[in-house]
Amino acid sequence: MRPDVLNPLFAEVSSLPGIGPRLTKLFARLAGPRALDLCWHLPVGLVDRRYRPAVEEAEPGRIATLKLRVMAHQKPVSPRAPWNVLCTDGQHDMDLAYFRANEGWLQKLLPLGEWRVVSGRLEIFNGRLQMTHPDYVVAPDEDDDFPLIEPLYPLTSGLTQRVVQKAVAAAVKRAPQLPEWQDEQLLQARGWPGWRGALQAVHQPQQQADLQPVAPARQRLAYDELLANQLALSLIRRNQKRAAGRPQRGNGELLQAALRALPFPLTGSQERAVEEILADMAAPHRMLRLLQGDVGSGKTVVALMAMLTAVEAGQQAALMAPTEILARQHYGTLLPLAQAAGLKIELLTGRDKGGTRRTTLERLQSGEAALAVGTHALFQEDVAFRDLGLAVIDEQHRFGVHQRLQLAQKGKGVDVLVTTATPIPRTLVLTAYGDMDVSRLTEKPAGRQAVDTRTLPLERLGEVITALGRALQRGAKIYWVCPLVAESEAMDLADAEARFESLSEQFPGRVALLHGQMKGPEKDAAMESFAEGPADILVATTVIEVGVDVPAATVMVIEQAERFGLAQLHQLRGRIGRGTERSTCLLLYKPPLGKTAHERLKILRESDDGFRIAEEDLRLRGAGELLGTAQSGLPRFRLAEVETQGDLLEMARDHASLVMERNPELQGAEGEALRILLYLFERDTAVRYLRSG
Ligand code: ADP
Ligand code: MG
Repeated sequence: MRPDVLNPLFAEVSSLPGIGPRLTKLFARLAGPRALDLCWHLPVGLVDRRYRPAVEEAEPGRIATLKLRVMAHQKPVSPRAPWNVLCTDGQHDMDLAYFRANEGWLQKLLPLGEWRVVSGRLEIFNGRLQMTHPDYVVAPDEDDDFPLIEPLYPLTSGLTQRVVQKAVAAAVKRAPQLPEWQDEQLLQARGWPGWRGALQAVHQPQQQADLQPVAPARQRLAYDELLANQLALSLIRRNQKRAAGRPQRGNGELLQAALRALPFPLTGSQERAVEEILADMAAPHRMLRLLQGDVGSGKTVVALMAMLTAVEAGQQAALMAPTEILARQHYGTLLPLAQAAGLKIELLTGRDKGGTRRTTLERLQSGEAALAVGTHALFQEDVAFRDLGLAVIDEQHRFGVHQRLQLAQKGKGVDVLVTTATPIPRTLVLTAYGDMDVSRLTEKPAGRQAVDTRTLPLERLGEVITALGRALQRGAKIYWVCPLVAESEAMDLADAEARFESLSEQFPGRVALLHGQMKGPEKDAAMESFAEGPADILVATTVIEVGVDVPAATVMVIEQAERFGLAQLHQLRGRIGRGTERSTCLLLYKPPLGKTAHERLKILRESDDGFRIAEEDLRLRGAGELLGTAQSGLPRFRLAEVETQGDLLEMARDHASLVMERNPELQGAEGEALRILLYLFERDTAVRYLRSG
């Protein structure tokens, strides 16, 4: 249960003064539904009204605050002209200009002969200093009625700065004093304020520097968030390991049988990864390991070796893929190898219904099938294993932490191996997995050739088509990837269909279409027609992004490549260059290309190293966008910026592991404070793993 002290923060925005149903909706869109969300809505700029010049020396263009006496009201000379209020500071005069003003209101706001303090942007009109629609006009004795420095917030349509400022200020005022969870020494060394002080400070920037990620108050809050993230991951991970794993040691028989059936030897990198994984499985704790390797580095075989070891140890193993296509493809790869080892393997996807499904479930439950491959259908409630010992989760980034845990719960002390082809930079690995053990495949299988990558403007489509014709004559197989419009799948589809038709006209009978809205069997048919013939061109949306393997494909055309993420382009390109033939990737872009887009495509032309590409992408685009947020499974931070605050992330990781050593159940005063931190950042699940939570 969330501690009561946090209730004011988790209260609905509508509980703040002056916020009715209309504003509630707008705030929900802008920041979120709760007071807390407003607290996390940080300013991106500020208005500084401290400049208080005399009229004579005032610089046009600046925001200024002046004390002025009203000399005259001048009615507009035409309906379009402003109402002018002539004022003086005692020495020199200037005008206040109001368009479409209400006369009575103006006379009252600026009574003749009276002094007023006004604040707004200065300008020159017809050689005279003026201020159009001042932001503030107050009587001199009400001088402190407006803030001399105002934070500026990101807005959404329907909300003004003033309304957002007031609401955020009210939310921040509600923020309770919380026990300190950070080390006193750390705070001192870094010059960081306490939590509440930091929250107030970020919303009251005094100068531009206060808005930067390096500002102490911002760092403090970001560090809090990162610490909550790392601590939560440590708790989840410890819980997984605590459910004492069972040592799984094989005799190597099945493994040898499968190796003999492979048409190639393992690379050194693969052998090392297998060794690491087997050592982990043999240990008494639960394995939680990430197998990271660039596209085409051969992760599937490594996973299979782990699966066979589980079977040798008398248990079952399951492999879960993110899509139907991939699950089927893995099944196709593993089937002959499993058979060579004398094992039964089952395929289970959302498509299996009725009798087939029942039979599959029976075989898994009885243990008749030692191996299972499938989609998320594998962790549905009615799926039971006789004794699941190992879960392999392929192309990990598409699944969230929860889904990972669900499959692991299908057995006792299940070892978990997750594989990812997206070369997530180290910083992001930390945020998504905490201190997970990592095996990396750094070599590519022998005989692979680098893909020749070129960028071309869309206008040269004609040449591209001619070149494709020649490639087809040489027997090439070609992927044609259509642009991702993102906002609507229907539009993606329309583009893909149009391209399919125009290419079909050029190359009748040789083009297949594959997209996400096709039914399972249609997808299979398209893939098969491409892999086995008669289709030699596969027009596809990004459904082919992950893992699809047709070694004969040697050409890829990507339309409007500038719209894709770098890591995604690299993934896509990884579909070719898998055989021994030289492969070509054409990145078509729609000019003009912006500077960043240009740089990004250039990196892709120059490099084939997924890790370098991912790091560059992180630098150029920011963490949030790196993997495409919806499917990334990576946590989104409210306050921390992983790109610029990576050092804090490392610190938080160390900090979390220190806590896990010193006080793993979060006991005592420090523990109490850390629990509050976890609830504050909504890591409630992690707290549940504590004994007395
Ligand atoms: P990924 O790491 O992208 O999942 P896969 O496991 O799909 O890669 O392997 C890509 C291709 O490389 C497959 O066709 C596979 O059979 C082949 N492969 C894997 N290991 C080797 C190896 N050691 N030597 C040659 N080819 C290999
Ligand atoms: Mg794979």
